[in-house]
Amino acid sequence: MEYMSTRGGIEPILFSQAVMMGLATDGGLLLPREIPHVSLDTLKEWRDLSYPQLALEVIDLFAGDVPREDLWDLVERAYATFDHSQVVPLVEVGGIHIMELFYGPTLAFKDIALQFLGNLFEYLLDKAGDRVNILGATSGDTGSAAIYGVKGRKNMAIFILHPYGKVSPVQEFQMTTVTDPRVYNLAIKGTFDDCQAIVKEIFGDLGFKERYRLGAVNSINWARVLAQVVYYIWGYLRFADTGSPKVAFTVPTGNFGNIFAGFVAREMLPEGAVGQLILATNENDILYRFISRGDYSLGQVISTISPSMDIQVASNFERYLYYLWGKDPLRVREGMRSFKKTGRLTFSKEELKQVAGDFTSMAVDQSQTLETIGRFYRETGYILDPHTAVGVTAGLAMKEEGVPMICLATAHPAKFPDAVKRAIGTEPPNPPRIAELEGKKRRFEILPAHVNKVKEYIEEHAI
Ligand SMILES: *Cc1c(COP(=O)(O)O)cnc(C)c1O
Repeated sequence: MEYMSTRGGIEPILFSQAVMMGLATDGGLLLPREIPHVSLDTLKEWRDLSYPQLALEVIDLFAGDVPREDLWDLVERAYATFDHSQVVPLVEVGGIHIMELFYGPTLAFKDIALQFLGNLFEYLLDKAGDRVNILGATSGDTGSAAIYGVKGRKNMAIFILHPYGKVSPVQEFQMTTVTDPRVYNLAIKGTFDDCQAIVKEIFGDLGFKERYRLGAVNSINWARVLAQVVYYIWGYLRFADTGSPKVAFTVPTGNFGNIFAGFVAREMLPEGAVGQLILATNENDILYRFISRGDYSLGQVISTISPSMDIQVASNFERYLYYLWGKDPLRVREGMRSFKKTGRLTFSKEELKQVAGDFTSMAVDQSQTLETIGRFYRETGYILDPHTAVGVTAGLAMKEEGVPMICLATAHPAKFPDAVKRAIGTEPPNPPRIAELEGKKRRFEILPAHVNKVKEYIEEHAI
């Protein structure tokens, strides 16, 4: 399978090159030249596969230059770290199906992609005799999942910046108790925006980036999207023998990565297999405004109880625009240039009609979210995390009769005990993965919000 950029500015490359490139060198995002279709016969064969076996089949369709045996080793090891025998179980509760994506090391769905990406990076670097220093900024979930994906790997070091004292206690514990060599938690005296600005500026220094072999594991990496395509197909297959060939998904959305994986899965499955794909947002509702009335204009980021969705510019959105705009890279390049200048995009009537066919959307505010957590708990005993609750609220509101509604549960509720307590009066019980962090040794470095200080630190510690 060959890969190209949404902006058309690179020669076709192979899967392994696309993974190592991350962001396309022309500023666009990488996509496979075609999305393969999976026949009903093949799906029948896939029905009884385990999660890692299904991951092998799906990823193998896109990963031509990684031998199948090697790929099997990578996916098997990635999902062996999960706490549930099914890896991604589906639980039927309250008239919907909750797809629990939080059994990985950091109890959020990002582990599904990052456990795989860590193995894949290590493998590709090893083959090339290369090394990488991962650099990133986090407001919580991504940083811990990235650290757990990278720790202990011989040809990789990781530097994660977080705003000192401004991430949740569980998230801080998860990150800073990883004391493996070559894992560097940098607590920056500033905000998340400061952290992000520092990282951006360092990546912009191309000489520095090259000298220290800097790399990223952010959500624009194609391998992350690909690893997420698997669980949509997995979810569909759970219903394949119930005489229900059609399912719907509701997805709490921030950077558009997760729901774009759903879009790809729908393209792969037979026509009509995936009905509604519901894009649920919190008060940061740019994507909701886009889908419901074609208004894609930047607003201010609002802090909410579902912080991993507090995003205005969704970095994976350009991938969808490529398809919406008739796979025309010039159109994408022009559109992104104009968005950078004006902070808005406009769409034709036909385009908006297509969007409405691709996604349904709902914006769910914090009082609705708390209400859903509370009501769901009282009626079923099941505790939703605030991100999942955004998706569940939308899923319940828009559920079609007779079509199973699969709600993606993106985090374990114990990661967000304060919001849960506001909704149900008590904190959710801590699973062992959180309980065992108590009292563990922590390591982090406090640095001022200054690019040069961070650069000096990297110079000293990079591999
Ligand atoms: C990252 C994250 C999201 C948003 O996912 P996107 O791929 O950015 O849309 C939702 N919920 C949780 C718990 C997350 O960590």
